[in-house]
Amino acid sequence: MRRYRKVKILATLGPASSEEGMIEKLHEAGADLFRINMSHASHDLMRTLISRIRAVEARSGRPIGILCDLQGPKLRVGKFAAGKVTLTPGQTFTLDNRDEPGDETRVFLPHPEILEAVKPGHRLLIDDGKLALKAEKADGKSIVCTVIAGTSISDRKGVSLPDTLLGVGALTDKDRIDLDAALATGEVDWVALSFVQRPDDLAEVRKIARGRVGVMSKIEKPQALERIDEIIELSDALMVARGDLGVEMPIETVPGIQKQLTRACRRAGKPVVVATQMLESMISSPVPTRAEVSDVSIAVFEGADAIMLSAESASGQYPVEAVSMMASIAREVEKDPLFPSIIYAQRATPEATGADAISLAARQIAETLRLSAIVTYTSSGTTGLRASRERPEVPIIALSPIVHTARRLSICWGMHCVVTQDATDLDDMVNRACRIVVSEGFGKPGDRIIISAGVPLGTPGATNMLRIAYIGSDGQTGI
Ligand code: PGA
Ligand code: MN
Repeated sequence: MRRYRKVKILATLGPASSEEGMIEKLHEAGADLFRINMSHASHDLMRTLISRIRAVEARSGRPIGILCDLQGPKLRVGKFAAGKVTLTPGQTFTLDNRDEPGDETRVFLPHPEILEAVKPGHRLLIDDGKLALKAEKADGKSIVCTVIAGTSISDRKGVSLPDTLLGVGALTDKDRIDLDAALATGEVDWVALSFVQRPDDLAEVRKIARGRVGVMSKIEKPQALERIDEIIELSDALMVARGDLGVEMPIETVPGIQKQLTRACRRAGKPVVVATQMLESMISSPVPTRAEVSDVSIAVFEGADAIMLSAESASGQYPVEAVSMMASIAREVEKDPLFPSIIYAQRATPEATGADAISLAARQIAETLRLSAIVTYTSSGTTGLRASRERPEVPIIALSPIVHTARRLSICWGMHCVVTQDATDLDDMVNRACRIVVSEGFGKPGDRIIISAGVPLGTPGATNMLRIAYIGSDGQTGI
């Protein structure tokens, strides 16, 4: 099964999409990877979903990426005696360390480190910004606030602190336990870290993961933007997490940040996912709004590696329709006559490495000679990532002997991953590439392809060879 688009679709699984039949339908409709949200999934559910995804993968024969999204330090207030209270702008309201039900004057904040970190003048945004508070006094035990806007607060609502650098790392105790459980399955390809604030936040997760999963940083805190280059450097991928970002930052700055992050990741050759509310109205409607279609198209025109569905596929009424709609928008945008010039205007210049020089040359040769595909042999995935960074017009077929590499690379723009043994010699390398291009539907006898590899095969980071090959009349061998 080949896809007729470059951008990938990442679909979140949830109550509307946890059955194997539904996961299969989502995959057939266009989902290339699945996200398991650890804010909601128990370990049992995570393991069940993983085995269902792998069953779908086995039937389809296509490597499918699995992303486990760790909850991170999502802050919440405690409960209220009445469940909910009404507030008036201008009044005083206090968050404190007393583990007792709240009322119109106060509520418990079960995060001592936050009570320490908030300073007078900082904003506290409750329930995605529906209630805005400003800290007037903070003594480490309580934060006395003025209500700026909004009129109600209820049990366990989320708290965003756009002005406060939190003393806590991005990995909470719950995240550590979830991460261990995810790693123990041996089947997870990507782990997403929520509310990353600084490069140090990535050190611990990298140490625990030891290369067994790719680490994706979710950018949803203003503090992360201040050191974004270092964060990108230490991450394997980025998510533009527009949900929390739009609460923590003025919402009108999110589109510019999305462009900035997409471009920075393309330059760095790190996959970037644009997420949240892309087809939000499809949670309850079979068709999206014009504005949502336009929003998806913008991410595609920018050359994002993947676009994500959250509640649309996890808990909405039209999960399959949402995936198909996303796929249709992507295909149409990529066919647009303006698409090449828009996307290639941001093409990154190669770095002085063999992999980049060869990726650039492979693209130029493929485009000059109108070849059917670029085939790249990649064991660790590094060569594949650099080939995708070139954003070539022709499809990239990444061949890897390691299933984990193929699954992880399934997030990359323009890449079709196939698991195959490493070639035994040069003839086998050419023949195998031709055979796979034909069997996967990317070429036919008489077409030409370009093959890049590191010889001897299996030496990581040693991309050093380019070979143009004709697909022979038998579709099995190359000339
Ligand atoms: P979430 O992350 O759905 O886990 O909150 C995405 C976002 O904040 O946009
Ligand atoms: Mn978030």
